[in-house]
Amino acid sequence: MTDAMSPLEQDIRRRIAAAGPMPIGEYMALCLSHPDHGYYVTQQPLGAAGDFTTAPEVSQIFGELIGLWTVAIWQQMGSPENVRLIELGPGRGTLMNDALRAAHVAPAFRSAVVAHLVEISRPLRLQQEETLKDAGVPVFWHHALDDVPAGPSIVIANEFFDALPIHQAVNVGHEWRMRTVDVIDGRLGFGVAQTAIPHFAGTLPPAVRQAGDGEIFEWRDDTMAFELGRRVMSGGGAALVIDYGHEQSQPGDTFQAVGRHTYADPFESPGSIDLTAHVDFEALTHAVETMGPKAFGPVMQARLLDSLGVQARANALKANVPRNKAFEIDSALARLTGTGRTGMGQLFKAVAFAHPNIGTPPGFE
Ligand code: SAH
Repeated sequence: MTDAMSPLEQDIRRRIAAAGPMPIGEYMALCLSHPDHGYYVTQQPLGAAGDFTTAPEVSQIFGELIGLWTVAIWQQMGSPENVRLIELGPGRGTLMNDALRAAHVAPAFRSAVVAHLVEISRPLRLQQEETLKDAGVPVFWHHALDDVPAGPSIVIANEFFDALPIHQAVNVGHEWRMRTVDVIDGRLGFGVAQTAIPHFAGTLPPAVRQAGDGEIFEWRDDTMAFELGRRVMSGGGAALVIDYGHEQSQPGDTFQAVGRHTYADPFESPGSIDLTAHVDFEALTHAVETMGPKAFGPVMQARLLDSLGVQARANALKANVPRNKAFEIDSALARLTGTGRTGMGQLFKAVAFAHPNIGTPPGFE
């Protein structure tokens, strides 16, 4: 059996044998970003041949509208002559490329902008270099947001926060215990810690305090949200975060594995499938606001794209292409803004964080 196991599974089993059941957050962090075997370190997750697709990969319109959003924010900042356009987790670089192309409408912005990509994946970084080689603005890469030089900044993050590890606790007869990963009957599976998390109930949001027996609460470390909040304040700009998730903190288990565009077993071949969980927008907003920015939203992705002019942009593109291409544009639009089961319009939400001096970001009026 050991032969068939991925190197990461062997490592995880060694850790469990030595230190006992592992909190979900540690399992997720190892699976995604183990320096040698992590999913984001070794795999090409995006695109038809990958595991999942994202809004910028569905249509160029998505990145273009975000590009125009960043131009408007820059103007609201007083058009500083140097601005850092920072993207967290840029995937294949598609969003940034479309955004910078759309920004040709504002040559002064294009001359002011330097792109900073925060990325941990080596294969994706190479892909981003390829995508952006003719972008016409300087591009730099970093491992962490804090490594981006200080100064006026605009930050964008699409499907980034869902990829950060979550922790889970289970309500067991009036106490909360960590949910763990353990070896059960020779296989990796979910377990529950033997003892309660001390003083946990007092830290819970009100809607979660009512949770019943067996219910699960999940949360993320606030570190990234704090960094984002600090950056918005010190850089005098704004951030746009788009992701799938829920508006209010609530009990529930959203931990999921996605492989080849379908749901997978989170314990099957650790390191070779994507693990994610919904973003808790209430928790994210609360953490960012602690650092001083003003929060706007969340609004549904459909509403944001509508108010940024998605329909007009689609019509303009359709005017110049043959009918079968026009059909593709319509179906991409339906995917981005649709509120049904296959649409991203309702499940995905957008929240903006802005320095109090710059006013309301476009799309959040
Ligand atoms: N924004 C892109 C890709 C989303 S996938 C799109 O919309 O298509 C998540 C991205 O975040 C990938 O680029 C992944 O490599 C990156 N990522 C995941 N965890 C990260 C971390 N801790 N720090 C920096 N980048 C990370």
